[in-house]
Amino acid sequence: MQLSRRQLFKVSAGGLAATSSMATLGLFPTAALAEVRQYKLTRAKEVRNTCTYCSVGCGLLMYSLGDGAKNAKAEIMHIEGDPDHPVSRGSLCPKGAGLLDFIHSPNRLKYPEVREPGTNAWKRISWHEAIERVARHMKADRDANFVAKNANGVPVNRWLSTSMLTASASSNETGILTQKFMRALGIIATDAQARVCHGPTVAALAATFGRGAMTNSWVDIKNADFILVMGGNPAEAHPVGFKWAIEAKKKGARIVVVDPRFNRTAAVADEFMPIRAGSDIVFLGGVINWLIANDKIQWDYVKAFTNATFIVNEGFSFSEGLFSGYDEAKGRYDRSSWSYELDDKGLAKTDPTLSHPRCVWNLMKAHYARYTPDVVTDLTGTPKDAFLRVCAHLGETAVATRVGTILYALGWTQHTVGAQNIRTMAMIQLMLGNIGMPGGGVNALRGHSNIQGLSDLGLLSTSLPGYLTLPNEQAHPDFASYLAKNTPKALQPGQLNYWSNTPKFMVSLLKWFWGKNATAENNWGYDWLPKWDKMYDILQLMEMMYQGQMNGFIVQGFNPLTSLPDFNKTSAAFAKLKYMVVIDPMTTETSSFWQNHGEANNVDPAKIQTEVFRLPSTCFAEEDGSIVNSCRWLQWHWKGAEPPGEAKPDQEILGELFVALRKLYQDEGGPGAETILNLSWPYRDPASPSPEELAKEMNGRALSDITDPTGKVLLKKGEQLPGFAALRDDGSTMSACWIFSGCWTEAGNQMGRRDNTDVGLGNTPGWSWSWPANRRILYNRASSDAQGKPWDPKRVLISWTGDKWAGIDVPDFKADAAPDTGMNPFIMNPEGVGRLFAADKLVDGPFPEHYEPMESPLGTNPLHPKVVTSPAVRLFASDKERLGKHDEFPYVGTTYRLTEHFQFWTKNVRLNAIAQPEQFVEIGETLAAEKGIKAGDTVKVSSKRGFIKAKAVVTKRVKALKVNGKTVHQIGIPLHWGWETVAKKGYLSNALPPAIGDCNTQTPEYKAFLVNLEKA
Ligand code: SF4
Repeated sequence: MQLSRRQLFKVSAGGLAATSSMATLGLFPTAALAEVRQYKLTRAKEVRNTCTYCSVGCGLLMYSLGDGAKNAKAEIMHIEGDPDHPVSRGSLCPKGAGLLDFIHSPNRLKYPEVREPGTNAWKRISWHEAIERVARHMKADRDANFVAKNANGVPVNRWLSTSMLTASASSNETGILTQKFMRALGIIATDAQARVCHGPTVAALAATFGRGAMTNSWVDIKNADFILVMGGNPAEAHPVGFKWAIEAKKKGARIVVVDPRFNRTAAVADEFMPIRAGSDIVFLGGVINWLIANDKIQWDYVKAFTNATFIVNEGFSFSEGLFSGYDEAKGRYDRSSWSYELDDKGLAKTDPTLSHPRCVWNLMKAHYARYTPDVVTDLTGTPKDAFLRVCAHLGETAVATRVGTILYALGWTQHTVGAQNIRTMAMIQLMLGNIGMPGGGVNALRGHSNIQGLSDLGLLSTSLPGYLTLPNEQAHPDFASYLAKNTPKALQPGQLNYWSNTPKFMVSLLKWFWGKNATAENNWGYDWLPKWDKMYDILQLMEMMYQGQMNGFIVQGFNPLTSLPDFNKTSAAFAKLKYMVVIDPMTTETSSFWQNHGEANNVDPAKIQTEVFRLPSTCFAEEDGSIVNSCRWLQWHWKGAEPPGEAKPDQEILGELFVALRKLYQDEGGPGAETILNLSWPYRDPASPSPEELAKEMNGRALSDITDPTGKVLLKKGEQLPGFAALRDDGSTMSACWIFSGCWTEAGNQMGRRDNTDVGLGNTPGWSWSWPANRRILYNRASSDAQGKPWDPKRVLISWTGDKWAGIDVPDFKADAAPDTGMNPFIMNPEGVGRLFAADKLVDGPFPEHYEPMESPLGTNPLHPKVVTSPAVRLFASDKERLGKHDEFPYVGTTYRLTEHFQFWTKNVRLNAIAQPEQFVEIGETLAAEKGIKAGDTVKVSSKRGFIKAKAVVTKRVKALKVNGKTVHQIGIPLHWGWETVAKKGYLSNALPPAIGDCNTQTPEYKAFLVNLEKA
């Protein structure tokens, strides 16, 4: 019998499941078998792109059919890892390997749709209708609620009754356009996924080192001698990046994992030790105490490059769990005593002998003396001998020739003390001299593919691009006060104090916003920017929505119903909105919050009057643009295919919306019309700004000829800037994001570079472009001693050559500042040094202190029983009511992510749905036995706020811990399920955690909360 190829496939599909051999059917497809299969990529077009999921930023090769012939529509038919990529080297994890199914997911959105109020169905509409209707909603709400001036007559130009959430995987070019769009409208009620994930990283690392970013790079992890993984699970969440930890291990490095669960990183580590979720500061504070007690300090580094010698204001104190300056009524600290003692020139006093009782070193020593090994064991549940082994391993890196690193992620950030968790480790790394060193650093492993970029672009309530602050109505009522408050003076002689350039960054930014309308006479249009009164983070936004104070909600590439804590509160808040606009490539639970899905979403559509628009956008594979990976590389990616149906790029959706709104204000006027009409929107097609135009704006260009003091022309009008050093404060330059300046110069698109030459220690400066100024390891001046000689001859990054700093990395320093100038490596800090004492930079203390999670299994804090939880927590009354107690909810719940899934995206992807199809929770054997639960049983996990039902995985991976004399059980809760899915439907795990955030950044406390457990 002979079969054609098509017949063969039909027979195969139907028959092979039932029989092991086609020969038994008497079928023998000789011709088909003899046919040589054509190589499927022969006529394919190949383009380079970047994985859209996590922030390792793995390189992709995408192949599309459609060779450019007329009428041929390109469609991606194969994706594989880019073997040239310096980090991923051809590897992809199960998520990256399933990207083809993401692009072709049946849950991709193809057409604009609306769900009319009270109805139970989507209705397809045209783009024209969608844009017109959304623009009308926005104008009506803005006109009714725009605040032009505050009670003191200060222009504030803000619109609070419509809020916007921005995407975490969209390109920088979409991000920067969104920034312009929002601020012109006066939107400050805005937030991004960065808040959910790594907000505390920025707060902690900026407070310590000057910048809030991962210090080193993925490949550089291979240079470490010791790797502590705590507050993260990179083998699972960043699998391809983690290969560099394994490379280090192959060369002899030791990997130790400290985590509530024996996870997949632990499975390949040298040692694992358990810890109670929410007790990390006890552990790390114990490490500080041990290092001091055992003199494992890199003294030359500490004395030269940290503020150990600085003398602290005599009003500073700490007693019974409270720092000086606490105002109980306000629930806030007055931080004025958390400061240095200054001399008559305004410089910080120091004591190089470290004998002054109020020098930072002695205050720190006294603060952590309470964190003895016994206290650590008693409060964390970590065995004492294991804890002491970690101390010893870290202590070994206190010498110049051994370096340790830390890999962490949301296990540290998602706590009410998230920023302080990270601060504690940052202090340890300073004490050990591990910052600025190859193989060292504090490596914040970012989660989403461009969440670093979105943070850099300031898509947060109170931020502007490049970590400039959005003006505040009280502190910065005018431009002079803004510059005065944000342009610090050096606190030690001879420091670079890079923020002294704030006027150049800000004027160049304002020229980007307002173009020709920004003049010296009108302070570059400063007054047109919105000014904030308080931070409108996600928790604040949801509270306002919940209280009925919000009418509109624009959601771009975000799924807040699944991502924000306390899903039942979020759902109730959405139901109070007048309109919601969801821009996304996929179906999301947010857009369908009004649908009834039984117990998992028990709502009545008829009672929900929110008008919901669902606008389909392109995904990564269908656009050009750049995204920033965790180690700050801006990697350009190229479009490989057309989007499905009528989906459009985000830039076009925003462009059309802005053009429609501008037309409405031109024709009809309205409050605050000038901030829209004065905006610079100079794009070739105003309804569709191109990625190239926007990328060039981020870099910046000369607006007139730029000359040096002798009159020599350095740059001609219209030329792209070579970098941020060219920025001016006289209106002659523009740049949308000063830290990205250098990304697209006169030499072209630096982000598109693909030279993977390793110039030493795994450094590949020719691959893409890294902010700032293509520096790959931050604070690399600190890899050499005070005299400019490398600490370790085997790890030379840069050194002083006699007339300049040079080496295998771009100096993160003034290249010609000789060591004898006294300039120090932490150039963003006015002190020039790293901060062991954070002064007034954080709201909850200059030294990290242990406070219990808001829902504590102990119900007390043995360190200071009168102050159990952090005194600086912001707690809304509606959330206070929704907090549980340990007698009713006796177990600790902690959420996490699996290798096979990415947040709530991959449930739309067949390959990943097959790999992990069903929702489960992890329960220790002892607890399971106590509750009569067997593996595979369905269990109900509940908190004060809601419940989920899932399969029980009974495991040795989660053990009961002895803490403060009682047994503490922990339950592991993976995140990834919902009702918009090609996998099995599941419950939203965020029904469980409370809507309470980190004191400094309001990143929610997902990692330690109280639950109950029962057999369902
Ligand atoms: S999810 Fe992360 S580790 Fe996996 S392929 Fe994508 S970028 Fe790489």
